[in-house]
Amino acid sequence: MIYSYTQISQYLACPRRYRHRYLDGWQQKDSQAAMLFGRAFERALAAYFLHQDPAAALFQEWTLYRSQPLQYSHGDTWDRVLQQGIQLLERFCQEDRVRIRQPRRNLQIKFVQKLSNQNEFVAYVDAIGRLDDRACLLEWKTTSSRYPEEPDGLLALDPQLICYSWITGVSEVAQVVFVRKRLVEIQYLRTTITDEQRREFAQQVDETIRQIESAQFLPHSGIRFPQNPCSSCPYIGLCLGRQELVIAALVRRPGAEQLAWLDELYY
Ligand code: SF4
Repeated sequence: MIYSYTQISQYLACPRRYRHRYLDGWQQKDSQAAMLFGRAFERALAAYFLHQDPAAALFQEWTLYRSQPLQYSHGDTWDRVLQQGIQLLERFCQEDRVRIRQPRRNLQIKFVQKLSNQNEFVAYVDAIGRLDDRACLLEWKTTSSRYPEEPDGLLALDPQLICYSWITGVSEVAQVVFVRKRLVEIQYLRTTITDEQRREFAQQVDETIRQIESAQFLPHSGIRFPQNPCSSCPYIGLCLGRQELVIAALVRRPGAEQLAWLDELYY
């Protein structure tokens, strides 16, 4: 079995959700504008590092979704999102703080860690390069609101960065956060992941896979006021037995669990 960060984090968020997605083959429909824009924007960034026209790449990718009935949030529209994306690319070029040498090798890099005779773990790291002339592993994020930076050191607790540090052995890590808001902004956040954190993550992967293999899929502990994780979960229709919610949010692809690690490319 091939595991990925997305699988482990979905299990930790809610084991029942993992079962819906990876055992029963239910997938969220590709209709979230923010997620699709994130994919298009990553392709534009790749074009930038390959000395191609990033704005043209973004337009080309984003145009694929122009006539699709996507779900936009915060009053966004197809045009507005494109405009913000182009502004972000211009700012990224002007600020010129990130360098990637040999971009064909150092963008979207696949790492594989053998866990046992049956299991391996796969991760796709966005880039390995330099931020402000210091070598580090880089993750791109697109979002409509700033990532929190307080308290100091918060980023070192980011589980995805810890995962990527574990699988690559690189301790210096950074997130470049492209914030789509009225006045666009780019956050350059960096931190150091310790050996202890990497060891703990390895233990967490082992323990989570042990629970998955022993078929422990109890639902999440439930309502926590004021943030009930079920209310924003795409699988709520399955848990409530509400067919109309299932049809609105999900599509079933039995057998897709064999390709589940591909999710890694999109989160
Ligand atoms: S609706 Fe709640 S219990 Fe059901 S899968 Fe989602 S998070 Fe888990």
